[in-house]
Amino acid sequence: MALIVNDISRTFNEFLLLPNRTDTDCRPETVSLTTPISRTGPGSSTELWLMTPFTSAIMQAVSSADLCVSLARAGGLGFVYHNQAVADQANAVAQVKGAAVLREDYPDAVTNADGRLRVGAGVNTHDYRDRVPALVAAGADALCFDSSDGYSDWQAEALTWVKKHHPEVPVGGGNVVDGEAFTFLAEAGADFVKVGVGGGSICITRDQKGIGRGQATAVLDVAAARDAYQDRTGDYVPICCDGGLLRDYHLALALAMGSDFVMMGRYFARFDQAPGAKIHSAREGFVKEYWGEGSLRARNWQRYSGGGARELVFEEGVDGYVPYAGDLHEGVAATLAKVKATMVSCGAVTLRQFRDTARLTLVSEQSFQENHAAVAVRETAGTSN
Ligand code: IMP
Repeated sequence: MALIVNDISRTFNEFLLLPNRTDTDCRPETVSLTTPISRTGPGSSTELWLMTPFTSAIMQAVSSADLCVSLARAGGLGFVYHNQAVADQANAVAQVKGAAVLREDYPDAVTNADGRLRVGAGVNTHDYRDRVPALVAAGADALCFDSSDGYSDWQAEALTWVKKHHPEVPVGGGNVVDGEAFTFLAEAGADFVKVGVGGGSICITRDQKGIGRGQATAVLDVAAARDAYQDRTGDYVPICCDGGLLRDYHLALALAMGSDFVMMGRYFARFDQAPGAKIHSAREGFVKEYWGEGSLRARNWQRYSGGGARELVFEEGVDGYVPYAGDLHEGVAATLAKVKATMVSCGAVTLRQFRDTARLTLVSEQSFQENHAAVAVRETAGTSN
């Protein structure tokens, strides 16, 4: 008989953080957002840390070389999309590695020992034996298997292969939504694990296939499994909340619930540096195009795989628009200011302290309404994210 999992699938809108005591040393200037994004501990063959816990979604509408350069300068990491020919993806990686970066201009920039910006790259379980060596040769600093369902033997086999042939490159797996699947990928060698099925803003997986889990519940469950895995093995395998972060405060909640870092598509698609066209709409002002990797518009890996091309039988993503938000640096700086302010209210100066001490409350439908000033007062200008 089918098993009914008894905890309700909850999402970020259903939670708020309670303020903790803030001491006088806890100020936005003293908050550090430094985070590991790859395995640390006895089983680790390599380490990678970010200054800003943000990564860009492995998507054609998001992770161009330009965007990856800007994000690395801001302290995060871009993941160049893999739904393109191996040579094109390797070129994009090389392009990011080739951008020169001035420390004075970008104090938080994430670079390797020779001062080059770091960049990640998405890979798939079909052509990784060709794609991975080309990306590593081009200078990729991290790889990530990109799948809407990572709980599979194909992914475990592919992770094992990468760890055997390129132990110096951190490689992530996913996506998963529960502790059992996290442990499966961690045991297969994943250096980090992405969390999220069906929560992406352009995603219709839940509608189409009936698969997924509320993103907050998924993160809480996987974070508990990560901590148990560390207790058992000594290895810390970071987790990434991928998708469904619609408001800046959702990022703070995701970090408080145990995410080591986040991956975002819609968020980055709004900026100048994202590849989508900027369009003016009479009703909504400036917007940018944003489409899912599972939409008809996205180019699919099969067309580059040298045979066996298949038509898309049904879509798992939509093709649409998001409000234009200007320059990535300014947008990220504003978001970071909010995340740091939240951490200060919660009395935390590191991400570790934030999640170890966070107290969260569930909100009722009525108190959710109370969150929004616009319900009581008509806003005259501007929108907040
Ligand atoms: P967002 O930040 O809410 O826009 O979600 C971005 C995430 O949605 C990506 O990192 C992927 O995990 C996921 N995603 C991307 N394209 C699709 C799609 O077409 N269908 C379902 N999920 C998608």
